[in-house]
Amino acid sequence: MGGNDARIQAIKDVEAYVPPAVSFMAEEKPGEIFGENVFSRAVMQQRLPKSVFKSVLATIEHTAPLDPLVADAVASAMKDWALEKGATHYAHVFYPLTGLTAEKHDSFFEPIGDGGAIAEFAGKTLIQGEPDASSFPNGGLRNTFEARGYTGWDVTSPAYVLENPNGNTLCIPTVFVSMTGEALDHKTPLLRSQQAMADHAERILRLFGHTPARVVSYCGPEQEYFLVDRHFVLARPDLLNAGRTLFGSKPPKGQEFDDHYFGAIPERVLGFMLDTERALFKLGIPAKTRHNEVAPGQFEIAPMFERANVASDHQQLLMTTFKSIARKHGMECLFHEKPFAGVNGSGKHVNFSIGNATEGNLLLPGDNPHDNAQFLVFCAAVIRAVHKYAGLLRASVASASNDHRLGANEAPPAIISIFLGDQLAGVFEQIALGAATSSKSKGRLTIGVDTLPVLPTDPGDRNRTSPFAFTGNRFEFRAPGSMQTVAGPMVTLNTIMAEALDHIATELEAAVAAGTDFNAAVQTVLTEIINTHGAVVFNGDGYSEKWQVEAAERGLPNLRTTLDALPELVSPEAMELFEKYKVFNHREMHSRYEIGLEHYTLTIGVEARLTHEIGATVVLPAAVRYQTELAVNVGALKAAGVDADLASLETVTGPLGDLRAALTTLGAALAADAGEEPLEEATYARDVLLPAMAAVRTAADALEGVVADDLWPLPTYQEMLYIL
Ligand code: ADP
Ligand code: MG
Repeated sequence: MGGNDARIQAIKDVEAYVPPAVSFMAEEKPGEIFGENVFSRAVMQQRLPKSVFKSVLATIEHTAPLDPLVADAVASAMKDWALEKGATHYAHVFYPLTGLTAEKHDSFFEPIGDGGAIAEFAGKTLIQGEPDASSFPNGGLRNTFEARGYTGWDVTSPAYVLENPNGNTLCIPTVFVSMTGEALDHKTPLLRSQQAMADHAERILRLFGHTPARVVSYCGPEQEYFLVDRHFVLARPDLLNAGRTLFGSKPPKGQEFDDHYFGAIPERVLGFMLDTERALFKLGIPAKTRHNEVAPGQFEIAPMFERANVASDHQQLLMTTFKSIARKHGMECLFHEKPFAGVNGSGKHVNFSIGNATEGNLLLPGDNPHDNAQFLVFCAAVIRAVHKYAGLLRASVASASNDHRLGANEAPPAIISIFLGDQLAGVFEQIALGAATSSKSKGRLTIGVDTLPVLPTDPGDRNRTSPFAFTGNRFEFRAPGSMQTVAGPMVTLNTIMAEALDHIATELEAAVAAGTDFNAAVQTVLTEIINTHGAVVFNGDGYSEKWQVEAAERGLPNLRTTLDALPELVSPEAMELFEKYKVFNHREMHSRYEIGLEHYTLTIGVEARLTHEIGATVVLPAAVRYQTELAVNVGALKAAGVDADLASLETVTGPLGDLRAALTTLGAALAADAGEEPLEEATYARDVLLPAMAAVRTAADALEGVVADDLWPLPTYQEMLYIL
């Protein structure tokens, strides 16, 4: 197909498309299928001998190591269950540093001598695998001579059966480590960081007189995404290969009317949502809310919060499920942070809290002074953690694609600050005023005497411009990108909380040992923290120019791009922090830094080559055709003795000249030497390739506004965003 045939055909195909019938049965109640394909506690209790079940439960609840003796019994029960569910294969599922999900499938059936086969699945196969998988990024952690990688079962995240038209698979969530035990994935550090945070949170709880059950961190991710008809995607090499449009001018009607936000969900999209929810329910993923988002074609799903490592696994599973079900419905699900310039991008808000079975949510304000003091201690820990390690938090969400979003006045700025809401901010202002007194003087809050004003659990004064907002019983970290795994930010949050809680626990323990009154000691620590770290609290408009200036005065980092943020990972403070809490060693930190740079360079490299290719072979020929048409017209008019329309010709010739020049520059930039070192190459991508791509796009988008529609080859924003 040439010219705009592909675009026209795509529009026809979209119009003729009949979506599949939704497989949601009317008589089926969501509750009945929930967790149907999960090897859950209930299933284990039913199928495992009592002692084995108890041992597994101890591993899950107290993160005790799994007794290898019980592994065989679990494996055997799991295999029988999976075979009943129609599984033919099992897979260790792991989360390599590509940010994607990887799985290695093996058959349950092993040949036996007489030509038959029996189903085999031993305990050691359940708890450990060796997928080789040497091509995943490792940032220098694996030399080829020791290129082995091992997977190990994460007992705290349940196994499940994944249905597929070509056969079902038993999936076992695992960690992925090198032969030396160094982390090659996102799950290993998440589990380590949960443990570090828990140890110190429990010290605090003991100081408050509790005998705490294991503390865990919770994560409730809100996932935004776009849906685009797949016919359009197939006619857009940029969407297909880069996940975002590299060309396209803003549609005449954008999101100005806010008519999409929380509007009626289009029927076809509703069909997709019903199908995905059914699939998620079966996998035990608690999908809860769904609605239209701000941009046309944009939607959101927010599963209920879960233990962070389970939420993280579920989140990855949700993304792959969405991708495949969208295709079944003739659509592409785009998780890119900025698929369309000029309309809102997508984020993945990470709702974060910590708690346990005995004390509940530790970020929930209490209703008596004692509980409130405890709540304020955990809140103060968040304030210290986020202030001290703002750069690290920024680095945990740094990527080439998320750079398009952060600071673009639709998403939080790159400056990390905390929104507490007026009431809680007021409480901390009073605490800042001073030392413990026995009575409450004006504006001074005394721990142990006062209660907090009642904080609404869902405050109305939501500040959507803050990257880190208290929302009544949790903090919402809004900077993570829609494509990212939540594991990265969760590892950072857990670790920086571990440090802050450790600090507080150490101070309080020392004060108590010295005979100081406990309430007075709490008061002192809170005052110290708010006075040292209060600069991170900001309740104003995070999108304003004024804030950029004020934040600088407060000494808060403003790490605008990924390359400004990534070096935070290898700063001496970060190295010390992660090593101290046994989350990463230095080699692991360096590997993550290098992989971050590599990924950045690769992403922009692909986009730059695509921009050049599409600019030169798709956009330029269309513009030249139109220019020729106009030139022929000018010639004909002149021959007929009529005044020729040179102005129209000029509107094409101008941007066409710009396009040619920009393509030449981009081509030269792609051919030039970008340097040897990862940081050099990444810097080249940011400072040379990105501007060269932008120049090509500006010229091409100008041409889109003048070239005759019947010659324009790429599906337009209008078509992609409004025809669903
Ligand atoms: P909003 O759009 O108002 O931010 P949503 O309902 O879209 O709220 O999403 C809220 C998310 O926060 C959900 O994933 C929810 O499960 C999660 N959440 C609620 N309470 C907690 C909590 N205590 N800890 C962590 N996440 C929570
Ligand atoms: Mg939301």
